[in-house]
Amino acid sequence: MNILVQKFGGTSVESHQKMIEVSNIIKDTKEKGYDVVVVVSAMGRSGSPYATDTLIELCKQANEVVSDRELDLIMSCGEIISGSILVHTLKRGGLDSILLTGGQAGIVTDEKYGDASVIQIDPINVIENLKEGKVVVVTGFQGITRSGEVTTLGRGGSDTSAVILGAGLNVKVVEIYTDVDGIMTADPRIEDSAQVITNINYDEVFQMADKGAKVIHPRAVEIAKNNNIIVKIKNTFNPSEGTSIGGCITHNIDTYKSSKDGKLITAVAHKNRLTQILIENCQEELFTDILTDIEKNNISMDMINFFIKEKIFTIDSDKTNILKQILDSYKVEYKIVKDCSKVTLIGSKITGIPGVMAQIVKTLTKENIKILQTSDSHMTISILVEENNIKKAVNALHREFRLSEIKAIY
Ligand code: ADP
Ligand code: ASP
Ligand code: MG
Repeated sequence: MNILVQKFGGTSVESHQKMIEVSNIIKDTKEKGYDVVVVVSAMGRSGSPYATDTLIELCKQANEVVSDRELDLIMSCGEIISGSILVHTLKRGGLDSILLTGGQAGIVTDEKYGDASVIQIDPINVIENLKEGKVVVVTGFQGITRSGEVTTLGRGGSDTSAVILGAGLNVKVVEIYTDVDGIMTADPRIEDSAQVITNINYDEVFQMADKGAKVIHPRAVEIAKNNNIIVKIKNTFNPSEGTSIGGCITHNIDTYKSSKDGKLITAVAHKNRLTQILIENCQEELFTDILTDIEKNNISMDMINFFIKEKIFTIDSDKTNILKQILDSYKVEYKIVKDCSKVTLIGSKITGIPGVMAQIVKTLTKENIKILQTSDSHMTISILVEENNIKKAVNALHREFRLSEIKAIY
């Protein structure tokens, strides 16, 4: 078989007209001789009647406290709605087609509602339908547990559905269609001069996704890397080369130093809606109990800096109230800084190059942007800033590291 997996995001299927454009892409692929597996997201973004956010809101209107199991069930409906409509659009265009849910397509997950991980993939049902000549449409973002419970894979998880199906079907390439021309040097919504990166390695794109660049789900990148699958990001509405994700790290300081085209930083990512927490003068034993409670409440900590007198970290802002309740119950002294954002520079050649942090600090200081906290890893440097400064920070760093001017070496 000659299978190609093509995934279409929410904006690509937000209306009937757009579904027709999507079905034309699928038709072209079929005519090229491929057996096509299509993965769909729910229709549109926040505000659209059948988008994931709208379904969550519906549930919250009924009760502020929503149970995880039922929330996953309602969220899974968004993709079922869009997949059904796409199948009808394909049939109308003369293509035989069938819709399978994640579970029917053989995507088995653990039991972590809202953020389940795939533990097994057995796409036998997909293969049988492909053999009958059908386009197999699979609902993204969802799977089923061994005991038959419906789960979702975390926000943005349809990309992961596409890549895991690709792995199960043993394909070499998975195509992800979205509303931008590919992976860019920054989010084009806030950086006008962002450029498409035509080739990028798994590790850098994983870091971009992990640090807030919504264009691909981080777990999709991990699965692609582990299975050696090339992921192509393309624009549904603007045919162009797009971005090819694959290959290994280019990590060569000499190349950087000697090449006029050398590029130290590949991209700038950002993440909004963060809260910074500073706990002061807290005894170690008490602090250990606090950490246990934080974990029990499923609160993920980031930018963690623990000192003897002070413990500093960030959390997603929607967890602020629950964290305050925990800290109040222990009667510890703490400060909370709401409305923070994190800007991250990503580059696999960053390790061992002196002066990058100094360059970042100078750039932000010149723009009067207060640095609330920093953290770094072998290929990233992150800075926490006030949310109202995030656009200014991204723009300044994009300019300083000349991301719109020079090309990466691969
Ligand atoms: P889809 O619904 O197709 O999955 P998403 O909204 O999940 O689309 O992802 C696409 C969006 O990702 C773009 O509209 C863009 O604003 C955002 N984005 C953030 N960072 C980047 C980046 N570095 N390159 C491209 N797009 C990015
Ligand atoms: N519809 C889901 C979401 O909005 C999954 C996806 O679009 O990838 O998070
Ligand atoms: Mg997405």
